[in-house]
Amino acid sequence: MRVLVTGGSGFIGSHLCDALVARGDDVACVDNLCTGRLENIGHLIGRPGFAFTEADVSAGLDLPGPFDAVAHLASPASPPAYLRLALETLAVGSKGTENALRLAHREGARFVLASTSEVYGDPAVHPQQEDYWGNVNPIGPRSVYDEAKRFAEALTSAWRRSRGLNAGIIRIFNTYGPRMSASDGRIVTNFITQALTGRPLTMYGDGSQTRSFCYVDDLVEGILLMLDSNEPGPVNLGNPEEFTVADFARLVLEITGSRSAVERRPLPADDPTRRCPDISRARRLLGWQPRTPARQGVLRTAGWLRARPGELDGADIAGPAPYPPLAAEPGIAAPEAVPQAARLRSIA
Ligand code: UDP
Repeated sequence: MRVLVTGGSGFIGSHLCDALVARGDDVACVDNLCTGRLENIGHLIGRPGFAFTEADVSAGLDLPGPFDAVAHLASPASPPAYLRLALETLAVGSKGTENALRLAHREGARFVLASTSEVYGDPAVHPQQEDYWGNVNPIGPRSVYDEAKRFAEALTSAWRRSRGLNAGIIRIFNTYGPRMSASDGRIVTNFITQALTGRPLTMYGDGSQTRSFCYVDDLVEGILLMLDSNEPGPVNLGNPEEFTVADFARLVLEITGSRSAVERRPLPADDPTRRCPDISRARRLLGWQPRTPARQGVLRTAGWLRARPGELDGADIAGPAPYPPLAAEPGIAAPEAVPQAARLRSIA
């Protein structure tokens, strides 16, 4: 099978390229390197069955076929990255997705959109099932990512319905593992990097918000199953083991044997209060479920980072983004502030 992977030199994309090459597929990897890194695919470059093209899929995507499948992963994905690249994130969710869909249609290829748990926003339903429509602030700071992916889902569904494209959608929940940049800004890399370098762990808010963490190898198995199927989805892919941020900080300290302190920082605007996937659909349709316990995955990720002292010491962890309050913008009223505890109660 010949597969096009957009965003193929990113954290997840590069692991997907590895898995495809390992099972004997030909891979065309496209990335503009805005957050992806060449070193993620350095070991694949020059190998038969792998080709890399540096290109921005939002500007156009006219690679020569044939392609049997297109995995569309290209997008900034960590909150600091998509806030820094706000317009680029909206462009790749819309124009980039359109270009990838068009190419898949031209080739008669299977298309899989990498969407996100962010489409559920700050969910009022817990755990999140695919038929929940979400609770997203369309003009908040995270909207550049959330709404780009929601639009990408709408576009993908329309190409399936009106053009007969064999398209499917996966919703990826928090994923971690080797090749995440220590400066990525997400919780797993921040906490491990801080623990390994003796810096305080930066806990945003009171640490009661929850996430669930999927090890990247497990996720890639799910993506392959979706690529090989004709399922439309959307299908949640994530690990249903749920941690509060405070508990996750304790786990990282314990696993790394670090004596770093845990320091509170302001909670970023619109930070989802709870997030945990219901993966019954993935279990039923794809026979998929994650296998790596958090303890093992964190240990492997810490080992990978520990072996890269330059990356660790040079890590630039900017902390929670200083979002401008909505009220500061003329003509837009700030929403009523809802204390986090109250929001938690309302969905318990
Ligand atoms: N978080 C934290 N400290 C950090 C980075 C993140 O407490 O140094 C929190 C963040 O506020 C959120 C959770 O960890 O509640 C997951 O954040 P991340 O940026 O990894 O991904 P998100 O799920 O918000 O997209």
